[in-house]
Amino acid sequence: MKVRCCIVGGGPAGMMLGYLLGRAGIDVVVLEKHADFFRDFRGDTVHPSTLQLMDELGLIDGFLKLPHQRLQKMEGMFGGEQVRIADLSRLHVKYPFIAFMPQWDFLNFLRESGKRFASLKVMMSAEAVDLLRDGERITGVRARTPDGVIDIEADLTIACDGRHSLLRERAGLAVEEIGAPMDVLWFRAGKRENESENLFARVEPGKMMVTFDRGDYWQCAFVIPKGQHDAVKARGLPALLDEVGRMAPILKSGLAEVKSWDDVKLLTVAVNRLPRWTRPGLLCIGDAAHAMSPIGGVGVNLAVQDAVATANLLASKLVSGCPSEEELDAVRRRRAFPVRMTQRMQVVVQNNIVNAALKPGNQLLKVPFVMRLVTALPWLQGITARFVGLGVRPEHVQSPGG
Ligand SMILES: Cc1cc2nc3c(=O)[nH]c(=O)nc-3n(C[C@H](O)[C@H](O)[C@H](O)COP(=O)(O)OP(=O)(O)OC[C@H]3O[C@@H](n4cnc5c(N)ncnc54)[C@H](O)[C@@H]3O)c2cc1C
Repeated sequence: MKVRCCIVGGGPAGMMLGYLLGRAGIDVVVLEKHADFFRDFRGDTVHPSTLQLMDELGLIDGFLKLPHQRLQKMEGMFGGEQVRIADLSRLHVKYPFIAFMPQWDFLNFLRESGKRFASLKVMMSAEAVDLLRDGERITGVRARTPDGVIDIEADLTIACDGRHSLLRERAGLAVEEIGAPMDVLWFRAGKRENESENLFARVEPGKMMVTFDRGDYWQCAFVIPKGQHDAVKARGLPALLDEVGRMAPILKSGLAEVKSWDDVKLLTVAVNRLPRWTRPGLLCIGDAAHAMSPIGGVGVNLAVQDAVATANLLASKLVSGCPSEEELDAVRRRRAFPVRMTQRMQVVVQNNIVNAALKPGNQLLKVPFVMRLVTALPWLQGITARFVGLGVRPEHVQSPGG
């Protein structure tokens, strides 16, 4: 197979970029190693910045018809005190809320919407296993598909294959590790009809938890210190569920649905970035270029922003061939600042809140001064909402197509 652009990875970055390049008439293939998008965890928050882009693409009406829940006020319990971290209703944007939507619905929607572009092909169950090269230049990928191993020659290969990117490793791109002090246990609790609660985060001495209202169930993210999964398991599932039920009494009855450790997934958290995102013929974006911490739920949205910036900067150049490495590097030059700023904020929260909360022992947990200030001053909740909901340097669709 020979294409102008081969995108590896059908996550938010890859599917959005595939859509945008297909829309611009570029001959593009997206390879996704799984047979479908139905994975238990993929990050489910669609922020105002992404909703705005869906609007610019004329996709918003269909998108908002998909089942989702909306969040405007980010509130939590911190050591027994109620705090408000952000109020998205203060944003002067068309969609001032976070839409909670299973990511498989988002990705399926992009896939279905992209079917009208003749130049876009999405190949499921197609796993890139190596890079093709001509000297220094990357010229495509070798992929395992249900029909056997095939070589896909491409003028440009774009790695959107996530935090464990094989492509960046094969290309010898070094990763700068920033680190995260936590991992996450991910499970569902049953939800009764009309059961609802505004709190989404709970922090107590030694424990942290986030719950998402998913309509007919609660999605729970229980934060544990990094590397403590075996220790938590050794204490037993009843001990974990007991702790969860005490922190969030609303979950108690629904926790009966967590029957074994098979129902509890470990999600390892990483924060890192590539100093260099390119090789001749290759560009990395999304988590493949910068793994994001779950703090703020911004990773999906940053990956989408990378995709939009890539299409804006490269679509017209791809009409005539592969952009030079200098031209490819324009994507890093545009996106590195928002990534650095966002990771810096995530590290500040990790160091000052997550570390303090997860410290063993029954110390008294004090609401940090800044959090107290934000809770007391509603206009500050608008500023935090801006950072979380729109991010730094939000992108707008400028690539050709309609
Ligand atoms: C615990 C945790 C919670 C999080 N919660 C949120 C949240 O609520 N909201 C949010 O916005 N972000 C969240 N994030 C971050 C978010 O998941 C990522 O930033 C985002 O998914 C990155 O998108 P991506 O498209 O770059 O990569 P990914 O979503 O990782 O997608 C990569 C895709 O590539 C495919 N792939 C991998 N290798 C190959 C290969 N060799 N060949 C073909 N296909 C391949 C994978 O199957 C996958 O579909 C969280 C992260 C963690 C760790």
